[in-house]
Amino acid sequence: MNLTNTPQVARWTAGTHARIDLGAYARNLARLRTYSPPEVKLLAVVKADAYGHGLAMCGLAAEAAGADWLGVARIQEALRLRNSGVSLPVLVLGPPNLHEIELAIAAKITLAIGSYTAVDRLVALAEGGSVARVHLKIDTGMRRYGFTSTEIADVALRLQAAGVVIDGVFTHFASADDLDPLPTTNAHAEFNAARDALRDVGIEPALVHAANSAALITDFAGDTNMVRSGIATYGLSPSPEVPVPSEFEPIAEVWSTAARCFTVRALQGVTYNYTWIAEVDTPAATVPIGYADGLPRGLQNQGWFVINGDVAPIIGRVCMDQTVAAVAGGVAEGTPVQIIGPAPAMSLATSGEMVGSNNYEAATRMMARMPRVYVVDNEAVGWEHLLLGEASYPAVGDLRTALEAVSLPTAVPAG
Ligand SMILES: *Cc1c(COP(=O)(O)O)cnc(C)c1O
Repeated sequence: MNLTNTPQVARWTAGTHARIDLGAYARNLARLRTYSPPEVKLLAVVKADAYGHGLAMCGLAAEAAGADWLGVARIQEALRLRNSGVSLPVLVLGPPNLHEIELAIAAKITLAIGSYTAVDRLVALAEGGSVARVHLKIDTGMRRYGFTSTEIADVALRLQAAGVVIDGVFTHFASADDLDPLPTTNAHAEFNAARDALRDVGIEPALVHAANSAALITDFAGDTNMVRSGIATYGLSPSPEVPVPSEFEPIAEVWSTAARCFTVRALQGVTYNYTWIAEVDTPAATVPIGYADGLPRGLQNQGWFVINGDVAPIIGRVCMDQTVAAVAGGVAEGTPVQIIGPAPAMSLATSGEMVGSNNYEAATRMMARMPRVYVVDNEAVGWEHLLLGEASYPAVGDLRTALEAVSLPTAVPAG
């Protein structure tokens, strides 16, 4: 299954592309497992095109690496997983499009239920013979989607009476990535009140989950039997206050190439509006990546690339499709340019912070235009080009074999 020499990989790696390390993804999943007892299930969150890393391939890789569930935000994302051959249970975490619920039921997709119109729709469908499986969403302080502990018993009884299958109950923390534990402690109390209210009417859903990456890392999973992790699976930290431990590996690198190498003469400006003007003759390289590829426009005159191991500061505006960097000493056209990667390159966190954002937004903005090459142990095992509509994904069984060779054993850490 080594695709390293296939024409697509050879062509695309010569230009702007993302390189996603599925071995590192499997290792991050294995590391996350060590935070809970072995019977606790792990739901890998792959919403938003797997935080920009590619929904189909990350879904397949999570399945191959032994995740128990996948989580997405929209029914359409769940359908894409099914169309890509993913057989794991899939939970749509956010408000479903009520006009797509029958599609979700047909594709065996589980829905989070957290609004009264969604309940009405599910009850009507169930009475017509179309029965959904749901996880009840409890609003414990995020105040976005879900029912409170005083509402949930009536809702659950109505769903149950109509025949809707209640497989789970869950909540989502508003502030698990802050240092202050109080909001999360309060949310746990409200979640437990909701579980008590359900128990009082004889409803005890099999799956109970609350923790996201931050709560898992900070030991706030509570008395639950599933955890949901997104950002940490990609090797990225929930926040500066709650970093992932250093052994977690960012799985994405972004690369481009020096397309034109030239000298900006003293007093000449660079790209739109001349926000950078050369003080002295400056060797520069034009790189075919821009904000339409997810490189934040706010990185003008402060971000940097890495070429031949040297930092190459971005000069002038980040354009839609091209960006210019100063290259001390000059480089040859065709030289690979690292956009995102290990130091000294920018990380998604540093590029996000520089523009007043975070690594979640930086990652999800790695846009669809860029081809993605998936590697295990430096060998290409798959690729995807959404604009061309071309993709090659390995079979889950082959991927499992490849990932087993590069993953870590799982064990609960002492203490
Ligand atoms: C996005 C999301 C997650 C994952 O959060 P991370 O911080 O990326 O781990 C978990 N649960 C819900 C409901 C979400 O929407």
